[in-house]
Amino acid sequence: MTFPIAEVALPIPKRALFDYSLAGFEHARIGARVMVSFGRRQLIGVIAGIKAQSGLAPEKLKAISALLDQESVFSEAHLTWLQWASQYYQHAFGEVLANALPVNLRKGAQAGVQEEVFYKATSQGQSLDDAELKRAPRQLAALQVLRQSQRSAKQLKDEFGSAVVNALLEKGLIESQCRTPEPDLTWPKRIKLADKPRPNLEQSLCITAIYNSGADYQCHLLEGVTGSGKTEVYLQAIEPLLLQGKQILVLVPEIGLTPQTVKRFEDRFGLKAGLLHSGLADGERLRVWQQARSGELGLIIGTRSAVFTPMKSPGMIIVDEEHDASYKQQDGWRYHARDLAVVRARLEKIPLLLGSATPSLESLNNALTGKYRHHLLRQRAGIAKPVHHSILDMKGQALDFGLARGLQGRIRQHLSNGHQVMLFINRRGYAPALICHQCGHVESCLRCDRSYTLHRGMNKLQCHHCGDAKSIPQRCPACSSDKLQPVGLGTEQLEDGLKTLFPGVSAVRIDSDSARGKDKLDKLLQAIDKGEHQLLIGTQILAKGHHFPNVSMVVVLDVDSALFSADFRAAEKLAQLITQVAGRAGRAHIQGELWLQTHHPGHPLLQDLLHNGYQHFARLALQERRFIHLPPFSYQGLFRVEANDARQAFDFLCQVREQIPQYPDLHLIGPLPALMEKRQGRFRMQLLLQSGQRTGIQQALAACLEAIEGLPLANRVRWSVDLDPQDFT
Ligand code: ADP
Ligand code: ZN
Ligand code: ZN
Repeated sequence: MTFPIAEVALPIPKRALFDYSLAGFEHARIGARVMVSFGRRQLIGVIAGIKAQSGLAPEKLKAISALLDQESVFSEAHLTWLQWASQYYQHAFGEVLANALPVNLRKGAQAGVQEEVFYKATSQGQSLDDAELKRAPRQLAALQVLRQSQRSAKQLKDEFGSAVVNALLEKGLIESQCRTPEPDLTWPKRIKLADKPRPNLEQSLCITAIYNSGADYQCHLLEGVTGSGKTEVYLQAIEPLLLQGKQILVLVPEIGLTPQTVKRFEDRFGLKAGLLHSGLADGERLRVWQQARSGELGLIIGTRSAVFTPMKSPGMIIVDEEHDASYKQQDGWRYHARDLAVVRARLEKIPLLLGSATPSLESLNNALTGKYRHHLLRQRAGIAKPVHHSILDMKGQALDFGLARGLQGRIRQHLSNGHQVMLFINRRGYAPALICHQCGHVESCLRCDRSYTLHRGMNKLQCHHCGDAKSIPQRCPACSSDKLQPVGLGTEQLEDGLKTLFPGVSAVRIDSDSARGKDKLDKLLQAIDKGEHQLLIGTQILAKGHHFPNVSMVVVLDVDSALFSADFRAAEKLAQLITQVAGRAGRAHIQGELWLQTHHPGHPLLQDLLHNGYQHFARLALQERRFIHLPPFSYQGLFRVEANDARQAFDFLCQVREQIPQYPDLHLIGPLPALMEKRQGRFRMQLLLQSGQRTGIQQALAACLEAIEGLPLANRVRWSVDLDPQDFT
């Protein structure tokens, strides 16, 4: 007798699928999870295909150990989407599927909602003469309830106590049964619409266009400065969909920074949103996943991996701050949540909304070439005024703690008006290095070949590349001098400095050190909103999500380091950062001003950004990219290799290079050392594939990856492929 064969995708970094016999589980479906023995382990995989025959000899073919789902855990569109993703990113299908499931399901938890036990009256219980329970009035009362309708075990025991329930069970008057609770799909009826502002002309045009794309795929790019009313457009665009019972998935860079946004969605519709983020316990994550899948949640708001949330009746996907780097996964399967969302929306036939004050050049190009609908919001909504931008030429200026004297007076003015001032510096710690004034020795992390950062708060030296920390030496290890000096400026030092420069003014630091821990960031932000601090010192965190309505002045202390970077995206990132930071400030009636401290005031990028804004800058930057054939006008794939031995890393990439087939428009660059050549004691090298056609990269990789997996060195070095790499560190 022959049995059907399941092709199982396992969560291991192998591109192949594995054959198992479905003996005893002939009814199994594609998309269901199975438990199989693999080597000496038991693994949970997903049935990716079912076929009649296997290439394996019958005696080698094992049967699956258990079938975990009667139905597919994924909808058909979802499965097709993940298949596409596996091919696009050339990443093992099993790992892609595992990524798309909450942790508990990867471990074998039940995918559907838990069954519950309930009680009902038996026929004996229905027909019993009440007099027979005369001496047990509680039992009679419980029985009478159950004669009317079933009750869950919990409800009944809460009401009457276990003893009563057990007595009725023993007498055979009631019986227990299991059932799957029906999903509660009543939320559309519970929507309570709060007041909303009348959209301005640009907003109306956009809302109408989205409405007109109806129940079909269409990607809209919403480009508008912070405060121009993008969130308001989201809210009004999803309103008709929610009222029809369609679910909305909103992706945000970081939930801790966007409590205001979450609240606005919830308050507008009077609905609780399902939240998905890294701080969530596994059980809660599974619950949100289940509720979204069963259609019980109208609103789902989450970070990167929330893009995988299943929806019973999807209505729209929104990617807020679509340019944000956090949408790109930086290890394992290096997917880009925004790009996945685009394809998902197409397959689910729903509109997609990308919003940003500073769109990525990739999305902007798609909008300018007509692939996406492009909507501009040029005005700040309501009565908010645009922020004034100015450059401060630092050359020859006296600086205190990195802050030019001229600006200090300006800061005092803003403070005396009762406003807050934000100082932006992208370097945490006290100082990026500790140097010996006597002999020049710099304490460096040997595993990364970079200087340690001095942290006064922790009283430690810390390597920002591998996390290694050690105590601060009292004397120079090279010459024993005690003249060790911090060089450069970090957030901690700036905080100290401001206390000296502005005595009596409360300064607060917001970086990943001070905001570590649950609710810590939230508390800091609340204290700032309440006006407990006047000077805000921050890193990149400040550029995301949160609004600071009382901030009237923003100073970016050092823009020069980004102007001269080896990363071709550095200028784009700097422009986004500056624009975002500026946009977080000066809401409502306050006139905001932004100051950039630089030694290169004439730099064309700064000049363009300053005089013409991000929109102009981005279009110019696109022209430049086109001219030099960089993304989005070419496509890239990157082999990354790490090894204890630099030679091995290099040799492996040379062998990889030989395996890659030649195509007319495919260029190979490398092997080259990564921007960070060494990290945690490992040497890092890269090989870049670049092509004018997306498919060129895909075809080349598809043709050679199996052979590369089989190279002897492939098991001795750590390597990965990164499609559309976002950074080269
Ligand atoms: P963004 O998401 O682009 O930062 P928001 O949607 O948050 O912008 O809008 C900024 C502020 O302006 C919010 O307080 C919002 O309530 C208000 N707002 C938005 N659109 C309008 C409008 N058409 N009329 C009046 N106020 C508006
Ligand atoms: Zn020394
Ligand atoms: Zn290190």
